[in-house]
Amino acid sequence: MTTIVLPYMLDFYPLQDEDNTRVHQFYASLREGKLTTTKCKNCGGLFWPPRVACPGCNSDQFEWVELPDEGELYAFTAMLLGAPLGMEKDVPFVLGMVLLDGTEFKVLSRIGNTKYEDCGIGMRVKLETYELEDGRVWFRFVPVD
Ligand SMILES: [Zn+2]
Repeated sequence: MTTIVLPYMLDFYPLQDEDNTRVHQFYASLREGKLTTTKCKNCGGLFWPPRVACPGCNSDQFEWVELPDEGELYAFTAMLLGAPLGMEKDVPFVLGMVLLDGTEFKVLSRIGNTKYEDCGIGMRVKLETYELEDGRVWFRFVPVD
């Protein structure tokens, strides 16, 4: 008998191991609490999110670099309905663009441990990583204490 747990296309979280993605190092680093991305060894281009081919020079040779784990809320909104599968029970929750310190990267993320009404542009946030029930790892940002 075959058991279908979830249609893959409805699964919000990517497959993370070496057999399924060339950016598996990103997830391995998340497991250590680090947000990382790829830097092109050929032209030095630094991009978010991690790439498998450089948009600048088409090289596929990268090194992994750690990104700052704090930043400020650049923009935010509340998810009131239509949440991705598995997140329905969390509604309402906050989504935001986090401008990482010292970079031009704006990272789309859930903003945890807060309510929409308590958020504001420029609010300080920090990275938090967590493990999903099936063992995969993911990240969000939460207000700095
Ligand atoms: Zn490049």
